Amino acid sequence: MCEEKSRADILREELFMKKEHTSCVIGEKGVNEADSFCEGYMNYLDASKTEREAVETALEMARAGGFTEFDKNVRYPAGSKVYVNNRDKSLILAVIGHKDIREGVSIAAAHVDAPRLDLKPNPLYEEADMAYFKTHYYGGIKKYQWTAIPLSLHGVIVKKNGEKVKVAIGDNADEPKFVITDLLPHLAANQMRSTMAEGIKGETLNILIGSRPFENTAAADSIKLNIMSILNEKYGITEADFLSAELEAVPAFSACDIGFDRSLIGAYGHDDRVCAYPALMAILDCEEPDYTSVTVLTDKEETGSEGNTGLDSKYLEYFICDLAAIYGAEGRDVLSRSKCLSADVNAAFDPNFPEVYEKRNSCVINGGVCITKYTGSRGKGGTSDASAEFMGEIRTLLDSENVCWQTGELGKVDEGGGGTVAKYIAHLNVDVVDLGVPVLSMHAPFEVVSKTDVYMAYKAFLAFFNK
Ligand code: MN
Ligand code: MN
Repeated sequence: MCEEKSRADILREELFMKKEHTSCVIGEKGVNEADSFCEGYMNYLDASKTEREAVETALEMARAGGFTEFDKNVRYPAGSKVYVNNRDKSLILAVIGHKDIREGVSIAAAHVDAPRLDLKPNPLYEEADMAYFKTHYYGGIKKYQWTAIPLSLHGVIVKKNGEKVKVAIGDNADEPKFVITDLLPHLAANQMRSTMAEGIKGETLNILIGSRPFENTAAADSIKLNIMSILNEKYGITEADFLSAELEAVPAFSACDIGFDRSLIGAYGHDDRVCAYPALMAILDCEEPDYTSVTVLTDKEETGSEGNTGLDSKYLEYFICDLAAIYGAEGRDVLSRSKCLSADVNAAFDPNFPEVYEKRNSCVINGGVCITKYTGSRGKGGTSDASAEFMGEIRTLLDSENVCWQTGELGKVDEGGGGTVAKYIAHLNVDVVDLGVPVLSMHAPFEVVSKTDVYMAYKAFLAFFNK
């Protein structure tokens, strides 16, 4: 039976915005492509528990893909692939385009740091016949989520003689893990009455790291001595070497499929490696673009982008200036005509907590990559609000390349807020908008994303570079 469409139906189709499940748009073939893209992503996650490891893994992949260290004295022809490694904690990857550099560059900027527990400079102590590390949390965490879960330890120790020792222990099945203990419910009456912010305090985030005395002989500090002796044997360090170390405790989980349909990925550190990996893959896969294309994997976003490896530093600006100078251009002229996708996650609508979201303006899982026009809080405070013109440009680009996308605000007006690196890019007089993957349980030790959304982020960055 054939039904005539009413005029209202026709108009609805013509005039209303459609929200579709990405799987319905891309079909079985597209879903399979997304699944296989995400296998690479999950491997990247497992190899990249910290900003340093994320940079190291990316650098290995880039070198294998033909990227060489940037030399500001070389006039690179189109198609050249270069990188700048900023202190092993942030990385710039660029593919030189055909167009004059004065026409600007295309930048995708993601961050590779994630919330975690950093060891204090003097972390090791013994208490009640157990040894512990004291921590100072990094980034916005709900502290109670970090107790009673297995932790691994990653980072570097610079010894007195200058030698740098890498540490990565607790992620492999045969390695010991670490844990922060929590109070049993039987004795937690007071704790349970306190707020979730205060139930676990910063100074109780102490990591249990051992409990046997040196040579099985009781003496003051013999548990601590035993740990120090093990660390000395394994890493060649003394207690004072912790002062010149960056050691990070992170969840000891591997990335895994979530759901009977395996449509989702559960892992530590999706924010923001879920944008870093697609931006990395897009720069690796972009061949001879028109505009010079740049992926930035930055550090320190979770603590406000300050510090010389964060985007409040001038390292990106210096690179663009050096690149401009090669071709006789001014860095400021290049930057002023450049465009950037600030590649960061947004909060996916969570039906368990509908009260904090404004449903019409929240991104959803499987809705595609999310464009966030502005972030900030209390009346758009502290944000870079993308222009209608740039939004229009990106929207047209994504549609023309069949990238599934949606828009999202971070929760209800005045419910809270957040920020990204967008404002630091905007500070360089670059057109910028946030674009990234919707995340559930953001900043938890175990976050969730959708595989098709991850794949759409990759397609978006690739389209942006190849425009
Ligand atoms: Mn982020
Ligand atoms: Mn974050």
